[in-house]
Amino acid sequence: MSSPTGPAANGTFLGMPAVPPRSPYGTGHLRGERTFPRAAHDELDNEQLRRNLGKATHSIRAKRLAVTGELPDWEQLRDAGSAIKTDTMNRLPELLEQLERKVTERGGTVHWARDGVEANEIVTRLVRDTGSDEILKVKSMATQEIGLNEHLESQGIAALETDLAELIVQLADDRPSHILVPAIHRNRDEIREIFLRHIPGVDPALDADPARLAAAARTFLREKFMTTKVAVSGANFGIAETGTLAVVESEGNGRMCLTLPQTLITVMGIEKVLPRFEDLEVFLQLLPRSSTGERMNPYTSLWTGVTPGDGPQEFHLVLLDNGRTAALADRIGRAALNCIRCSACLNVCPVYERTGGHAYGSTYPGPIGAVLTPQLAGMHGAKDDPNSSLPYASSLCGACFDACPVKIDIPSLLVELRHQHTEQSGTTAEKLAMKAAATVMKRPGLFTTAQKAAGLGRVLAGRDGTLSRLPPPLNGWSDSRDTPAPPRQSFRSWFASAEGAAAMRAAAAEGARNTDDAPQEDS
Ligand code: SF4
Repeated sequence: MSSPTGPAANGTFLGMPAVPPRSPYGTGHLRGERTFPRAAHDELDNEQLRRNLGKATHSIRAKRLAVTGELPDWEQLRDAGSAIKTDTMNRLPELLEQLERKVTERGGTVHWARDGVEANEIVTRLVRDTGSDEILKVKSMATQEIGLNEHLESQGIAALETDLAELIVQLADDRPSHILVPAIHRNRDEIREIFLRHIPGVDPALDADPARLAAAARTFLREKFMTTKVAVSGANFGIAETGTLAVVESEGNGRMCLTLPQTLITVMGIEKVLPRFEDLEVFLQLLPRSSTGERMNPYTSLWTGVTPGDGPQEFHLVLLDNGRTAALADRIGRAALNCIRCSACLNVCPVYERTGGHAYGSTYPGPIGAVLTPQLAGMHGAKDDPNSSLPYASSLCGACFDACPVKIDIPSLLVELRHQHTEQSGTTAEKLAMKAAATVMKRPGLFTTAQKAAGLGRVLAGRDGTLSRLPPPLNGWSDSRDTPAPPRQSFRSWFASAEGAAAMRAAAAEGARNTDDAPQEDS
């Protein structure tokens, strides 16, 4: 037996798990209830959703291209962002300890949460210690990921979202469908209905004018800002050098939550740390331009620990792992942790644009969600796990890679995850089909016979010339694709026919004529 600190014969260390844990199965919102193709199938029937998504993604795309195109050093900024994040991931433990030291020096308290369960328990205990049974929330992906609101509710603590879109989603008992625009799937008439039904004391004559809808939410929230004693936020960045936390937002609700309550609790994924204060110079250019297509977001709040007599007098930082160390341990997949959650990859993705965020079943939708969700929560290939279907929710067109401000090569990560899923899932009908196909393709005689047999599939085709459903094990292919009926004649049999031979002779003669007619070079 090796010593408690020394390496064992197989290179692992006693007391250290060989594979860091993923987010626990069944907790939080990192796993949907249905596989992506099934969920997407239903979402595609929602015309309202497709219209809203098409409009919103097109307009954000155009704005993003305009504001990124006006910077002559945009590509250098992307390179700098990528390099800073890569350096951060390479020395994450040391930077997190530095962040903890600095926050503590400035009067804050740091808590380490291995997973969502621990983070939820820590936040609940901290809120209880204040004697409060309600909190305000600043829009935060990390707290959505761990299902904090639901957990607090089960413990008798009411959590109120203060971002307008998050408030709409919460009042409707709905789920966000976009990282940046969580209520993108709702139109203004629906929002009016939601407000009339759920905001106490709202004017019954409220119409669907956006400004009046926003004013109704503002009146409701203003009173809450003035009376609630505890707020919970996420963080866009945490600076190791100074212990400073940063939240960027557009509505000012974040600024209210970060300054007015007596107690502030921030839940931050450990990958959000940045080494130096000056790194913000890069990311505060990259993030707003990539997310909302603005040169600068309207509100940027920075705070460092506690300042006596100014702002919250108690500050807690909960550092959340929840599968991030496991992602970090994956040599290829760790690049996904560089994500700054700008949502540019969602807005350019042809799959996301058609299916919307709910189809992904996770807090993180779109291309980055298809990578990050399986990495944080794992894939259980043998169990038809929804997360195993996410890496296939892509055409691998590469638009996400082009748009990403920190140059995450999402298509390559998706391919790697597909590989990992295939390795995990053992013998499947698909693998057997591929093996059979390989055997047939190696033998020309067998291949010709198989082609002739496949030609019989024409009788099953509909009037549009497609096969709607192939028999098992090929049904996985036809479930999400149009399958054209086999042609009347394969290329090989045409090539071997008299007609094919005549066509080839004619082509050869044509080629010879063109060579004779070509201008001769001077010698
Ligand atoms: S992967 Fe890149 S483009 Fe997508 S949300 Fe993250 S930072 Fe933005």
